[in-house]
Amino acid sequence: MSKGLLIVLSGPSGVGKGTVCNQLRQRLPELVYSVSATTRQPRLGEENGVNYFFKSREQFLEMIENDQLLEHAEYVGNFYGTPRDFVEQTIESGKDIILEIEVQGALKVKEKFSEGIFVFLLPPSLDELKGRIQGRGTENQATIDHRMSVAADEISLLENYDYAVVNDEIDLACQRIQSIITAEHCKVRKK
Ligand code: 5GP
Repeated sequence: MSKGLLIVLSGPSGVGKGTVCNQLRQRLPELVYSVSATTRQPRLGEENGVNYFFKSREQFLEMIENDQLLEHAEYVGNFYGTPRDFVEQTIESGKDIILEIEVQGALKVKEKFSEGIFVFLLPPSLDELKGRIQGRGTENQATIDHRMSVAADEISLLENYDYAVVNDEIDLACQRIQSIITAEHCKVRKK
């Protein structure tokens, strides 16, 4: 049996990774989603084990210590990380898995899984990105400014990715990513 694909969907905060990822999961019910661990506080409506595994700083550091994370990164004052076993077991079982993570983490995954498919989601413009983060209404001004300065650095790392997808419209962005997944399944892999 062939292994599943490891798809990394990355890009700056506010670009719409979460929305695109949710819609992709609806379109492709067999696509497995990797639930990350984080030390960030839950937002209204977020559930433990569904959106994230919410951890204390001590618990998170213990996961790092025990090598339970495939990658982790500190992002705007909080830790985020991908539980390793779940990802590896899913791929081994032949199912595709998608990781929705920020750029530093994506680059760490690339060091370990060069065969992964790295997709960078781009905003139509930086102004548009700022408007989306503000419109979400979940962050204060200092956090918005911080996320914007991180976003510019993140976009400069685009060349490390296999695909760039502009999120001008969610439906279109999802269609593009679905096409990428289909193409990757048809790809002839050299030994
Ligand atoms: P948020 O706080 O808005 O949920 O997420 C902040 C950023 O962390 C987003 O860019 C999100 O994609 C990223 N993120 C979520 N989970 C992980 C993870 O497991 N690892 C890394 N490196 N980033 C993550």
